[in-house]
Formats: sequence, structure tokens, C-alpha cells
Amino acid sequence: MDEENLEPFGFDPASIDYLLLTHAHLDHCGRIPLLVNRGFSGEIITTAASCELAKLVLLDSAHLQEDEARYKTKKASRQGNIKKVIEPLYNTVDVLNSFSFFGRTAHYNQPVEISKDIQATFIDAGHILGSASIVLNVKHNEQQRKIIFSGDLGYNGRAIIKDPATPPHADIVVMETTYGDRLHKTLAPTLEEFYSTINKTIAKGGNVIIPSFALERAQELLYYLREGIVNGQLPSYLPTFLDSPMAISATQIFQRHPECFDEETCKIFKSKNDPFMFPGLHFTRETADSMAINNISGGAVIIAGSGMCTGGRVKHHLKHNLWGRNNSVIFVGYAAYGTLARRIVDGAQQVKIFAEQIPVKAFVFTIGGFSAHADQAELLNWHQQTGSPKTTFLVHGDKDVMPIFAKKLQNTTVEIPKLHQQYELM
Ligand SMILES: [Zn+2]
Repeated sequence: MDEENLEPFGFDPASIDYLLLTHAHLDHCGRIPLLVNRGFSGEIITTAASCELAKLVLLDSAHLQEDEARYKTKKASRQGNIKKVIEPLYNTVDVLNSFSFFGRTAHYNQPVEISKDIQATFIDAGHILGSASIVLNVKHNEQQRKIIFSGDLGYNGRAIIKDPATPPHADIVVMETTYGDRLHKTLAPTLEEFYSTINKTIAKGGNVIIPSFALERAQELLYYLREGIVNGQLPSYLPTFLDSPMAISATQIFQRHPECFDEETCKIFKSKNDPFMFPGLHFTRETADSMAINNISGGAVIIAGSGMCTGGRVKHHLKHNLWGRNNSVIFVGYAAYGTLARRIVDGAQQVKIFAEQIPVKAFVFTIGGFSAHADQAELLNWHQQTGSPKTTFLVHGDKDVMPIFAKKLQNTTVEIPKLHQQYELM
């Protein structure tokens, strides 16, 4: 992936006038600074929440890449390759520079004039805060086409954010297929398992470690912890640490965007409560405060990144807690092969963390129902609402998954484009 990121875009970045951003996840906005570096000087249009979250995500991304480049350069030099300097894909200054290209703010359901012949309307995708599908109305040579880009899609009934908006009928659909081959577990049993694991662990005086992504998942966890306390499913005072500077900043951005909230979340705010706060919750931004968590006694919930345990503060917490029988680790997200999270999920007896072999004695538990993505049935339902588009392009999915989803689509011609493949739409 590092190599792929360095490859040319397949078009001249200087020739691009507009960049319409669906949401702030790194796999959607992560190469913006590189695009700017390579000559893009157009306008980036996205929603207000996505704009703030994307900036946070990009700064973090530059920081991680700078760290990794430094580490790799040092390693090369240790191996006698003194002259080899590894450069990051982009650095913090590149990210700051790219911020000046964020232009107009898109509001849900209000068309943005791109040119006299092109209008873009952002509609809620229900995936993460500020996420959108983008509807393009394009006129060309007396012809008119409606093209929808799904972006990443969420589903009805998720915490905090609104349900995905109903897309209009379209001529062309470009849609994601992340979970095009499977159905999700429902949330109610997921939450029951979640609360019961926390209760059992805290009752034994153990700690609950939850590796989590900083964006959306961490806020969802806070939301459900608060709900559990309010409903009496968790102790009224639950010592909890959100031990991730990025998740703390993301939570603060969430609090600034009530326009994205669903009815229940609005109600909580209106009653002068905060859906992300509860008695016992601590935000630990400073490293010293994070380290002090190791000394607490009596059991606590510790939410820290990274979600797949490949880096971040969660590795320290795992080192201190994995070997204790009274502790639990709850995985609430996807764990890719080759990651520390995956090894623990797969039942490793011991794992190497910071060059030390740590026995896995803690209770390890995976909860499947917290996805931010629509499953197969929800993707199909969304597609059905677009009418019978002439062509549907499937993107953003595993190569094994896309053909499975393609077979499920009716009344449309399905295309699974290869990288850099071009199509005439008008
Ligand atoms: Zn996403």
C-alpha cells in the first residue's frame, strides 16, 4: 500500500478544478495533501463537519508518516546505509498547505453550483458525522445525466447520526461494496454482551481495554456507555478513560455539529446533558496522565487507539493488562490479518509487545454489531431507491466481494472498473 500511495494518480492533478469529499475517513481524504503537492489548486467542497474532521485526520496522518519515515531512516542507518533518507508521503506543512483549498461548505440537500452545467447536492450517508453521498446533475450537449456517488453508506438506527437520506432516481450509480457479501448482527444483543462483559470485569476489580478507532467508533462507545449508565445496565459511576488525544479532539468536533445529530441525540443535548459525558469519564490527553492509568486500582474501562493495536497508547495498556486473568479486552471493530489485534482475536497464547512476550490471560471478546457500514441488504435497499440506473459502478470493496454483490443487482448494467479505467457517461 505504501508503494501504491506513491504511484501517479492516473490524471494530472493540476487539471482538476473541484474535489468533492464524501467524508473524513482516511481512506477517502488521505491523499489530499499529496494531490495539492502534485499541482492541484482547485476547490475542495465538503460538509462543515467533514471539513473539521478531515483536517484532524490529515494532521494525524502526517504525524504518523513523519514518525515512520524517521524510524525507517534510523533503521537504514543502523544497517550501515547512512545516506538513505526515507521521506514521508507528505508532512505536516503539506497538510497545512492543503487546508487553504477547502472552499465552500456543502449543506445537506442544498445544491452547490459547480459550473453552469454541473450541480452537486450532498445528501446524508448516515456513515459517520458529516458523511454524504453526492448527487451530480450534469448537462452536456443538450443531454442531462444524474450521477450518484454513494461514498461510504451507513444504515438506519445508528447512534448519534441521522439515517441515510433516500437517494433520488439516477442514471448512473457509483457505489461502495465493503460488506456487499454479508449481513450484520443486530445491535441489541451486541449491547447486552458489551454491558455484561464490562459488569463482570469491573465486579472482579479488573480493567476493560477497548481498542478503538478515534473517529465515530470512540464517540459511539461513549454514547452507549452513557446510555448503559442512564438505563441502569452499568454501574452509576463507571471509571472510564478516553485515552486518545485524537479521539478527544474528534469528540469535541462532534459536540460542535448538532446539525448532524439524530432526534435522540438532539433530545439529550436539549435536556442540558451531553451524550458523550457521564460520571467517571476522564479525557487523558497528556502522556503523563495516560501512564498514570496503569496505577489505578478497582477496575476501569480504558478506550484507546489504534483500533487494530498496530500503534498508539492501546499497546501500553495491553502490555499492562493482557496477562491479568481479571481483565478483559473487547474488540469492537474490524481486525485485519497481520495486526496485533488479529493475533489476540485469533487466540494467541502470548503476543510480543514492545519486544516483550506477554501471555494472554485476559478474557478476549469480539463484538460484531458496531459496524459503520451498510450490510448487503442495506446496500441493496439503497440501490433500489435509485430506480433502475442505466449503469452501476461497484467500487471500494474486496475483489472477491464485488462480484457477489453484482449478482444481487437487478435492472441495471453492472461495471467493476479497474484502476484508471475510463468510461463515457454522456
Ligand atoms: Zn468511511
